[in-house]
Amino acid sequence: MCIKIKKIMNIYENTLNRIKKACNTLAEIEGDETKVKELFKIISHPQRIIKVSIPLKKDDQTLEIFEGYRVQYNNILGPYKGGIRYYTEVDEDEIKTLALIMTLKCSLVGLPLGGAKGGIKIDPENLSESELERISREYVRKIYDFIGPDKDIPAPDINTNSKIMDWMVDEYIKISKNISKGQNNQGINNLLATFTGKSVENGGIEGREEATGKGGEIILNKLIEKMKLNNGQLKVAIQGFGNAGQNIAKFLYQHKDRYKIVALSDSKGAIYSEKGFNPDTVMKYKKEKGTVTAFYYSEETSNTSCKKITNEELLELEVDVLIPSAVENVINKENSHKIKAKIILELANNPVSEEADEILNQRGIIVVPDILANAGGVTASYLEMLQNKSDRKWKKEEVFQKLEEYLIKALDEVWEISQKYKISLRESALLIALKRLMQKYSQF
Ligand code: GLU
Repeated sequence: MCIKIKKIMNIYENTLNRIKKACNTLAEIEGDETKVKELFKIISHPQRIIKVSIPLKKDDQTLEIFEGYRVQYNNILGPYKGGIRYYTEVDEDEIKTLALIMTLKCSLVGLPLGGAKGGIKIDPENLSESELERISREYVRKIYDFIGPDKDIPAPDINTNSKIMDWMVDEYIKISKNISKGQNNQGINNLLATFTGKSVENGGIEGREEATGKGGEIILNKLIEKMKLNNGQLKVAIQGFGNAGQNIAKFLYQHKDRYKIVALSDSKGAIYSEKGFNPDTVMKYKKEKGTVTAFYYSEETSNTSCKKITNEELLELEVDVLIPSAVENVINKENSHKIKAKIILELANNPVSEEADEILNQRGIIVVPDILANAGGVTASYLEMLQNKSDRKWKKEEVFQKLEEYLIKALDEVWEISQKYKISLRESALLIALKRLMQKYSQF
């Protein structure tokens, strides 16, 4: 089968193109063209796009209207699941793409969940804490009818966190109680399961905050073992120092024999040190001054030979492992031929464009796809849902142990298929995720 592949377009079509390629390979392997074609047709359309206008009365009493989205992409495997981001670049195309990626991610890891994503087009840095709370609650009021513990379960993503999830779930429970006038027979715990990534005091699970970074570390450790690269210290560059970037840095730093973190960045700049960074020290400066580059100006740099570099330079460093942990499309047609890393671990969603994928592949650079590399977050979210619904509690070590079981199983499968059919890890991961969706559709 050959579904025709178009040349460059927007990020959604870009992602669909990758899926087309994997579908073509799946049809060759499975020999069931009709079923694969049907799956591709289904998966090329989100099931529901919710677009809302969110009014916000600012602290100065002026009224502003913000654009919000929730895209419920596919729920054949279970309730819709995916984060909510607050970000100035949010638009329908972006959220649709990320919701599709969530569908594939949950399928790959074998979670009984579908895919969704939400977002508000906003710069949270321009809002006061009370404005942030008001807009978060208003967003929930706008999408209330469409979410719930068995319907759609949002979570944190870029610029959202446990505090925001706590406000949101509180608003959700308030509305539910109001509507049912006390008759609501769903337990409070069950309603708490409408959002994951909550604070531990409010029904969240231990380790959820670190789970995306922890998952990335689990995958990287196992991958370097498979690639037989685990007999020396690997140089690592991390692009982005939000939740995912900070946590993977913290976990990799615990294996000093294996990894040396030589570069870090955030949206305001990047730093490099041949001797390596202690991420906790850099974090201290980021907290104080709002950027990792503050470390460069501090007295602590004297024995680290720290240099200031640009974000572009960070991506092109001669390192073993490059970990994009921020936004989409940072490795693209323009810079992919300059990338020198041996391994790219996609801790962000969609950081490598489809065109870049081809170039990196030809150059023998291993890309660990987002749907595997950052699946630790949603896997811990799934455990949080189970915890809320069953009233049991897991300790952080148990959560990490379970993460390891899910993620290593997924990596082993992806590795095996990629070796067997001589395809990239991305194509292999997509193939497994698509096959699981196809099997589920075949049951109907
Ligand atoms: N936002 C995270 C992701 O992109 C987590 C989603 C979730 O926990 O539902 O995978």
